[in-house]
Amino acid sequence: MEIVVPADFEYLYVQNEERPVVKIPNEVLRKKATPIEKVTKRHVKLAENLVRIMKEANGVGIAAPQVGVSERIIVIAPERKPIVLVNPTIVEKSGKQIGEEGCLSIPGLYGDVERYMSITVEAYDIKGRPVDYDMEGYAAVIVQHEIDHLDGVLFIDKVDETTLHWQDPNPENR
Ligand SMILES: [Zn+2]
Repeated sequence: MEIVVPADFEYLYVQNEERPVVKIPNEVLRKKATPIEKVTKRHVKLAENLVRIMKEANGVGIAAPQVGVSERIIVIAPERKPIVLVNPTIVEKSGKQIGEEGCLSIPGLYGDVERYMSITVEAYDIKGRPVDYDMEGYAAVIVQHEIDHLDGVLFIDKVDETTLHWQDPNPENR
């Protein structure tokens, strides 16, 4: 689906120091990201950057391609403490849920997406140790949304188009 950004929302699509997140139609968002073979200092730095940029943008998750790095690392923050996942894969999934999603790379656009209700995700932490998490509800949505980013998939590919709508996330900044 081609997204036409309304004039009132174009200011959200500027990429600069203040708004460092990569926005559509940047091609890095459509690439399949590369697995990380060994976690290095560079990845630790990348993870720190992702956490900072996600927080500054008031996001609950972010994936490396959203800062222009096509590698398989995501950060999720369904609660306060961010979790960094390297090479995350969903190994079990069940149930369905439908909820409204947005994306830091498509600011201002929201719509309903169907996701699995419960998932088990396997990954490595930022020290390279294997981890796994059972997640359900909102946390499971965030993981599915962010892993999609690693495969070049955006929520607009899965959205119920009849529910798509624009809403300024920070009208006070206008
Ligand atoms: Zn997103």
